[in-house]
Amino acid sequence: MTNTRLRTEDGARYPLLENGAQARIMAFMHEARRPVSRAEMTEKLGFNRRRISMEVARLVENGLLGEEGLAESDGGRRSTLLGIPRSAGLVAAVDVGATHVDVALTTLGSEILAHEGEPMDVREGPRSVLDKAKGMISELLEEIGAGREEVLTIGLGVPGPVEQASGLLTAPPIMPGWDRFPIREVFAGEYVAPVFVDNDVNIMAVGEHWGGVAKGVNDLIFVKIGTGIGSGIIIGGRLHRGIQGCAGDFGHICVDPDGPVCTCGNSGCLEAMAAAPAIVLQAERCAREGESPVMMAIMQERGELTARQVGEAVGLGCPCALSIIRRSGRLIGQTLAAAVNVLNPSMIVIGGGVSHIGNTLLAEIRSSLYQRSLPLATRNLPVVMSELDGVAGVTGASVMAAEGVLKAPS
Ligand SMILES: [Zn+2]
Repeated sequence: MTNTRLRTEDGARYPLLENGAQARIMAFMHEARRPVSRAEMTEKLGFNRRRISMEVARLVENGLLGEEGLAESDGGRRSTLLGIPRSAGLVAAVDVGATHVDVALTTLGSEILAHEGEPMDVREGPRSVLDKAKGMISELLEEIGAGREEVLTIGLGVPGPVEQASGLLTAPPIMPGWDRFPIREVFAGEYVAPVFVDNDVNIMAVGEHWGGVAKGVNDLIFVKIGTGIGSGIIIGGRLHRGIQGCAGDFGHICVDPDGPVCTCGNSGCLEAMAAAPAIVLQAERCAREGESPVMMAIMQERGELTARQVGEAVGLGCPCALSIIRRSGRLIGQTLAAAVNVLNPSMIVIGGGVSHIGNTLLAEIRSSLYQRSLPLATRNLPVVMSELDGVAGVTGASVMAAEGVLKAPS
């Protein structure tokens, strides 16, 4: 029998949920990431047993929850555990970075079923990049033997400021051609699923908070250091987007008014002085001017230098590379200190390509952060590497997209 709740006559599947109680149950299940009994739901959600039983029955009927075995016996009758089954539907998650695109298919519970990443230049423009992402989704669907109609919701992260209400990028500095490009429409022709768009660093913060090193941490700043520098801020367990959706645009804080011109048009932004292109530029200069035989050798051997190779040069004992990385870490740490003084988070998570440079960078970020923040704010402030790392973005995109459809009907 066709499920009328999930699929109306015109093919739309929404709303997925019937009421606020179901939304609370599904949010709890999505966050729990493990099978849960009706008794536990009753205890944690504050609805009575009868209500939980009734709503769970509806959710099972609608295919959004399934029975997943029995709980450990505590002497009495063993209770049935419920979970979000694979058959509930799929989430397509896309993480567009400046130099890569990552795509994953996950369950509605945001567990990754298939994942693929490819190098790509975001400056190729939205058509080319999004077509590539769509092609990758199709390949992954084939890989797991699923059809397009199983995709319930699509989440997408992009490396620029996204206006929340419209899901449009607004004047993104490193993304020519993307300004107010209708991203959602690109998917609309092939998918009935709604598309949720947010900044790439925001979704990484959401991913890390949902299932990574920051799980259970309610106040955190996630800093991505790559081609650009940005941050995602979670306050009180919720992503802080700000009124226009551009909160956390950490990379364009000015650290030197006389510094180099940034992609945003201003001078001396943190990003222009400490992100991957700045590290490479300084390293190339050292190599060319003969100050660093190590980096000159790398450049001659591979034809170019990358930020990661500058990190390798540190490992090989190159003092120039060491001072470049330290300077970058110091600038990031001192800017972060200002954010810590304002927001008083309980954890800082560092991710992005440049974070792979290793301990030198992290150590320098820590020391300059601790030096410049209020002692009270840093007393118990761990500064840690992203745990989800390469899948933080797609995980967060999936969480955002799943939450977007697991809401009470308005
Ligand atoms: Zn800037």
